Amino acid sequence: MLLLTVSSILNAGHKRKPLPSVDAVLIVAPHPDDDIIGCGGAIMHHTQDGAHVTHLYMTSGDAVSRNKRSLPLAHKREKEAKRGAKRLGVDDLIFLREPDSALRSSKKLVRKVAHLIKELQTNIVYIPHAHDDHADHKETHKIVLQAIKSLKAQEKPLVLAYEVWTPLREVTHCVDISTSIKHKLNALAEHKSQIADINYIEAVKALNRYRGILESRTDYAECFKHIKE
Ligand SMILES: [Zn+2]
Repeated sequence: MLLLTVSSILNAGHKRKPLPSVDAVLIVAPHPDDDIIGCGGAIMHHTQDGAHVTHLYMTSGDAVSRNKRSLPLAHKREKEAKRGAKRLGVDDLIFLREPDSALRSSKKLVRKVAHLIKELQTNIVYIPHAHDDHADHKETHKIVLQAIKSLKAQEKPLVLAYEVWTPLREVTHCVDISTSIKHKLNALAEHKSQIADINYIEAVKALNRYRGILESRTDYAECFKHIKE
């Protein structure tokens, strides 16, 4: 009986879908470093597969307090984002410079995001999941879904949600990142202003190890949830 239970759990893990092979991928990050934390391994998977990958940053992570933003910090974090993305083979970065920690949806912003998804002929868009515990992450999720809603059926990309502050409760897709985890962590290490405060390196490594063992029977994995309209 116990063996049967264990085997059914193992089979559940094996049912996770692999990432599809596509031409154009858009990673939407509320702040520089979310792209690497949530999708660093998937980004490498897509670049090595020949896809064009673009990173879209909603804010430049420049809040120093609730109502104060720092321009030097914005410059620093954008430089860190460029260096981190480059380590994964990406040099197409777009910074929207919306207010950090006060991101709000607006018609103009939704239109801008919809235009980009269309213009880049995006096949897959990666966004934070709806319950990720940061207001900017939740707002980013909402903005991108509003943008997609305005597109024609043939322009709508596959939407995969990633995990940063709160692990996903349900996952549909997993990618084995055992060979790219080293590059992902090196990319994350480029975000020096962030890892000085919090040891994101160990946190991310542990989450990806957990996903590897429990969801994909590999050493390290990233997992995502398919968001349907
Ligand atoms: Zn963030």
